[in-house]
Amino acid sequence: MSWFSDLLGPFEGFAVTLRQIGKGRRVTRKYPEEKRQKPERFHGRHVLNRYDNGMEKCIGCELCAGVCPAECIYVRGADNPPDDPVSPGERFGFVYEINMLRCIFCAMCVEACPTQAITMTHLFEFSVTDRDDAIYTKDELLVEPDGTPNHPQPDNPLIDLGELREGDGWLRATSPAGRREYEGVVAWTPSARTGTPAAELGQSAERDEDAEDSDG
Ligand code: SF4
Ligand code: SF4
Repeated sequence: MSWFSDLLGPFEGFAVTLRQIGKGRRVTRKYPEEKRQKPERFHGRHVLNRYDNGMEKCIGCELCAGVCPAECIYVRGADNPPDDPVSPGERFGFVYEINMLRCIFCAMCVEACPTQAITMTHLFEFSVTDRDDAIYTKDELLVEPDGTPNHPQPDNPLIDLGELREGDGWLRATSPAGRREYEGVVAWTPSARTGTPAAELGQSAERDEDAEDSDG
C-alpha cells in the first residue's frame, strides 16, 4: 500500500499549511528594522579588549592562533617598549588578524586566551563584497581606549555597533573548565567598558531549574 501513502503525502502537507492559515501568528520579521533577540551564548564577531586603564589585554602569546581549528587567526607578538608599554607584561600583540571567511565561530580562541583579550559578541552583520575586507585587522578588532568598538564598515546601515556597546561583548562557551561547581560564579573580570559578564550558567540540571525559577 505504499503507493497509497505516496498519493496521500502531498495532501497531508497541504493540510498542515491549511491548519496554519488564519492562526495569525506571524513568524517572519521585518529584518533589519526588527531584529530577533539573540541567544545568550550566540557566537558573533570578535573584539580585542582592553583593561580599564586602556592597556591592551592581548600579550601576543598566539595561543588563540594555535588552538583555532580553522587556522584563521594570525598573531605576531612583539616586546613591549619599556617606556611606553602597550600591554602589561613583556609582550603585546603587534599584528592580529582574523579571516572571517574561514572562521567557524567555535569560540575556541576565546576559551584559550589567558588574558580574556579576545571575546565574541552578538554582532553578526559583517557581509562583504571584497574578500580582503573579510580579514579583520587589529585596527578593526581592538576597542578604543574608552571601550568604543571598531568596525571596517562603520557606515553600513546594517552594522549596529550599539550591540557591542550594550555590554554583550562577552562570551564564554562553557562554564570554566566545564565544572559545575563554578556555575553562578562571575569568572571573568570586567572588560574595557563593555560591562561585567553575567555569572556562568553552565549546563547542569541545577542551572536549568534556576533558569526556570528566574523566568518566573
Ligand atoms: S571562533 Fe574558532 S574558528 Fe573562529 S577564530 Fe576563534 S578559534 Fe578560530
Ligand atoms: S588574544 Fe589572547 S590568546 Fe590570542 S595572542 Fe592575544 S593574549 Fe594570546
